[in-house]
Amino acid sequence: MSSVAAHQLDTWLRLHLHARGDRSRLEAFRDRKLRFLIQQATARVPYYRTLFQEAGMSPAAIQTAGDLSQLPISSAQDYRERPLQETLADGTDPRRLFLRPTSGSSGRPFVVRRASREEHLINAFRLRAHAHCGLRSRDVVAAVVFFSKSHRRGHWVGRVRQRLGVRRLAPVNCLASADQILDRLIALQPDVIQGFPGAIAQAAQRALERGVEIRPRRVVCGGETVTPFRRRVMEEAFGCPVYSFYGAQEFNLLAWQCPDTQAFHICEDNVILEVLRDGRPAEPGELGEVVATGLHSYQMPFIRYRIGDVVRQGDPQCECGQPFATLQDIRGRRHDYFVWSDGSLFHPDRVVVPIMEAEADWFDQYQLIQETHREVVLRIAPSRPPTSTQIEHVEQLARAELPPDVVFRVELVESVPPEPSGKQRYCVSRVASEGAEIGTVPVAAE
Ligand SMILES: [Zn+2]
Repeated sequence: MSSVAAHQLDTWLRLHLHARGDRSRLEAFRDRKLRFLIQQATARVPYYRTLFQEAGMSPAAIQTAGDLSQLPISSAQDYRERPLQETLADGTDPRRLFLRPTSGSSGRPFVVRRASREEHLINAFRLRAHAHCGLRSRDVVAAVVFFSKSHRRGHWVGRVRQRLGVRRLAPVNCLASADQILDRLIALQPDVIQGFPGAIAQAAQRALERGVEIRPRRVVCGGETVTPFRRRVMEEAFGCPVYSFYGAQEFNLLAWQCPDTQAFHICEDNVILEVLRDGRPAEPGELGEVVATGLHSYQMPFIRYRIGDVVRQGDPQCECGQPFATLQDIRGRRHDYFVWSDGSLFHPDRVVVPIMEAEADWFDQYQLIQETHREVVLRIAPSRPPTSTQIEHVEQLARAELPPDVVFRVELVESVPPEPSGKQRYCVSRVASEGAEIGTVPVAAE
């Protein structure tokens, strides 16, 4: 098998067999795709050709996923600082590629490009995971996400599907207010709600306050961290399980939550996902940084690509019987962390969770912002005016968690605007943490 088209067809035919097959078959498939990817990337993509040459490596040295550690790690920065054509396969017309803009943790966007066939193929892994989490073909799915103009028009595959009544996707604008999102969900009465957990949880909170009943079978979250608080609100309001999907624009689906064990199945026939701690693979239970290789992107490959997220390594195979290796937990994006002046990192949930548990009943929206190494601000858009005792209580809870030299204050605002991508980030650090070395994140995050 040599051509890209033949490999893509082979993947389409096999991807539904993997969940029921044994692990050795999955590993054999993964390694076969890896060898072809390396061969394609070194033959056709100037960036990787040079990378291999400089590392003094022959493509034949990479035979299995275990051999990947010999290769240098790349990041979005490496792609951004080169002319586009160097990161694409020779002869590719970038105008014919599908665009996937990323928001970029440093605030500098980076556009991922894929051929249309690649886009549909890797999206099939996501659909397989949805089916595993209970999505049925006739379901009405409310998608609470950001819809750009091109999304609204949609791809022809999607339009045909809508006409046939197969996985009907009803867009719900995540930029709307919590009440507007809730009203749309009431009108839709969807079988499945999917999208950004921040916006869905806010609508869920309003559903509880207004005493409204919406009974989807599943909520499937992606794009942001599902905090314990958000999960609880959604489960309570909708009375159904909440599953989390973990993805990145460069790869589409990286891992999805197993309905049986709650661990995250790594989508190993789509990506090779390494969890690194101090440069070595993390042991089960250890935190580490994600470095991923997309097995089906040939036009703009991502090989040993640092995403910058911190996850907890899981077992080599899920206990549910499916052959996939697992992650125990997605701990957040690197830019979700606050960094103090001594370089140590701090997960904002330590402040957010106790405050939400005690005082959230008067919050409409909120955002915790690290302004400087020594200053943290909690912006709250209140649903009703708080008393001074309530604000003092919030300050007290925050100071109990923050280092003593960090100043904390509450700021009452009208609303908390989302990012341009439509994501509602509940915590933001204006202090760059990009300089942190691999390995320092997990240690300090514990
Ligand atoms: Zn499982």
